[in-house]
Amino acid sequence: MLKHNLGYPRIGIRRELKKACESYWGNKIDSKKLFDVGKQIREENWKIQEKSGMDLIPCNDFSFYDHVLDMSLLLGAIPESYKEIVHDTTNDDSSSNQKIEIYFAMARGIQKKGLDIKAMEMTKWFNTNYHYIVPEFYKNQKFSIFSRKIFDEFEEAKKILKSIPKPVVIGPVSYLFLGKEKEKENFHKMDLIENIVPIYIKVINSLKKRGSNWIQLDEPILVFDDLSKKVVEAFQYSYQEISKHCSEINILLTSYFDGISENISILREFSSSINALHVDLIEDPDQLEKVLSFLSDTKMILSLGLIDGRNIWKNNYVNSIKNIERSIKVLGEKRVMIAPSCSLIHIPLDIEYEYSIHSDIKNRMVFAKQKIYELKDLEDIMKGNKDLLSQNLMSLKKTKSSFLFHDQKVKEKVKQVRDLDFQRKSPFNIRQKKQNKKFNLPVFPTTTIGSFPQTKEIRTLRNKFKKKEFSQEEYEKKIKEFIVYVIKKQEEINLDVLVHGEFERNDMVEFFSDKLKGFISTENGWVQSYGSRCVKPPIIYGDVTRNKNITTKYICFAQSQTEKLMKGMLTGPVTILQWSFVRNDQPIFTTAYQIALSIRDEVKDLEDSGIQIIQIDEPAIREGLPLKKKKWKFYFDWTVKAFRISSSVVKDETQIHTHMCYSEFNDILPHIENLDADVLTIETSRSKMELLESFSKYSYPNEIGPGVYDIHSPRIPTVKEIFDLIKKASNRFPIKNIWVNPDCGLKTRKWNEVMKSLKNMTKAAKIAREKLLNNPILNNNQKS
Ligand code: GLN
Ligand code: ZN
Repeated sequence: MLKHNLGYPRIGIRRELKKACESYWGNKIDSKKLFDVGKQIREENWKIQEKSGMDLIPCNDFSFYDHVLDMSLLLGAIPESYKEIVHDTTNDDSSSNQKIEIYFAMARGIQKKGLDIKAMEMTKWFNTNYHYIVPEFYKNQKFSIFSRKIFDEFEEAKKILKSIPKPVVIGPVSYLFLGKEKEKENFHKMDLIENIVPIYIKVINSLKKRGSNWIQLDEPILVFDDLSKKVVEAFQYSYQEISKHCSEINILLTSYFDGISENISILREFSSSINALHVDLIEDPDQLEKVLSFLSDTKMILSLGLIDGRNIWKNNYVNSIKNIERSIKVLGEKRVMIAPSCSLIHIPLDIEYEYSIHSDIKNRMVFAKQKIYELKDLEDIMKGNKDLLSQNLMSLKKTKSSFLFHDQKVKEKVKQVRDLDFQRKSPFNIRQKKQNKKFNLPVFPTTTIGSFPQTKEIRTLRNKFKKKEFSQEEYEKKIKEFIVYVIKKQEEINLDVLVHGEFERNDMVEFFSDKLKGFISTENGWVQSYGSRCVKPPIIYGDVTRNKNITTKYICFAQSQTEKLMKGMLTGPVTILQWSFVRNDQPIFTTAYQIALSIRDEVKDLEDSGIQIIQIDEPAIREGLPLKKKKWKFYFDWTVKAFRISSSVVKDETQIHTHMCYSEFNDILPHIENLDADVLTIETSRSKMELLESFSKYSYPNEIGPGVYDIHSPRIPTVKEIFDLIKKASNRFPIKNIWVNPDCGLKTRKWNEVMKSLKNMTKAAKIAREKLLNNPILNNNQKS
């Protein structure tokens, strides 16, 4: 029974990788130093895994920025524009320097030496918070080995490890699937499969020559339940070809993030071409029987994904052992491997670097390093060490009875959530009338999404307060000064609905999770989000409750400083949940409803203190979408409910806004409508309101603010541009329903950019009021 790992976190325990990359980008260190840091991290990771007794240790799982981008460099999938960066030298050292320059240019864009090339697109990796650089594909694209990283790392690992390392790549079908067609006409990215597979064969054979006896090909798209015929054919073609041309090397095909039951018939077609299949038994334990019955007709080895690679709780050994025993019974011991469910890059590195977590909680937690040792425990238990089993049982049992984790009151409250609790008092059209009458806003009302520039001054202030260098009073006084300032600025811009600027918030989830019971934050629990950006997700360990009010102080202060309407800002329950590590001892929706009840109290408090417009941000609803379409209905059922629990407590006259920042709404619009927010503000401007196309087939009934300019860029939008977008929106929605706003919060922008952009925005809204209101063609569309 081999123990193996799919991938180990690469950021380093002190975020060495982040620091090295950022120093390199800032010209503070040279490439040699950067490569040295990479080397040290890899060595450390390999040694940790070797020490734990791991049989098959991954290599090429390290990456300076992103492992999908690494694949693009390996396969030579480099868009023309980046090739300009190459200057001809033959010296070996400088050639790897050039490669890293191209690599980072693709990841981050480049502006130097007369070059001005944008970064490649980035998007979320399945349903995680990790982002990858989207490969670009062209008709008839040719591939060839460009980067030698995989070979170098294999050689490097061979020197360090006693066992032969296992190189890891993304399989050809998933790699093409995750990319984007840059030409639309007569071209499907899967058409490239015949061009790309020969390169995979070359890579694998070259690794074999160097002594590799295993290769891991990740094909996570095997968990989708709607794979097209082209994809299915690509799978068959690829693996039959690979097996034909790469003999004497074991092909391990991995799936993760969900089960593969729906796609077993696809696998059957090439089952003799692969030697081992990895399945994720954490996300889908029920697939085991189906997979076993499929495998029993083949010679394949089954790799059991037993240790949760997406969460930080101790493994339930009894469950794991059951799965191991069952698999051994069907397949025999030689045909079973054990592993974490997926790569460990989605969890922090080492729990031993947490010093202040209550021991009852910490005793239940494991990070990447500890998870590796859990595999060893499982092996030892199988060999007869039953003590480990009872110890594990004990520590899990302890939680069940600990006061720390449980709060009877909130458990009861969740049980009592009745239908009425997620229903506004009246339907939207009645609420809209009442709100219009009360607010008396102009048509095309203008507002922003919440945050204003987070200057160095504000960050320093918050940090100093955190380090207790400021007293509570001094800190509050300063924050209030910023609020007064941002209100003055918004009045100068002549916005209709103002915000308080969110200066007291470092992160939209952390700000709330820090103050809710049932959450803890870590000191060093960093997880890579993209490139050098790491996040420290909070941990939900117990029942969530709100002890005291979180937001009214500053928002009410802000309202007291202006005659205009002040919008109160909250983060929604699904986003708080999605960006945290969640409990695994109760259904996810129970946790969601607990958070929702806390936010509901907050909404009520704001309303009671006179705030008339409340925004509940839910930017993460989309990324949590299950990978299988058949699970969507259930997902939306609880996420919509959670949102509505928090928002439905208010009177008809109180206006609920929600904000989401992504532009692929097509398939989820009816669910978004079910949120029944009075106003929805969304991201549209990057696609020049392409998103609005999805609204053409479908009419969104409530008020909507399709972002009129892109806040991700420092560029100042012109009045005309914004006006044109408002006009475009007016063709889609009744004018009375349209809001004018940027497409996300302004915290990453500079003040001078914000002032100019927002002034152009209010000017455009003014022109729209003059020109569009009396436009007969448009008015024809306004009947609804
Ligand atoms: N209110 C938040 C802000 O303005 C929203 C951030 C987000 O959508 N991610 O920053
Ligand atoms: Zn946003």
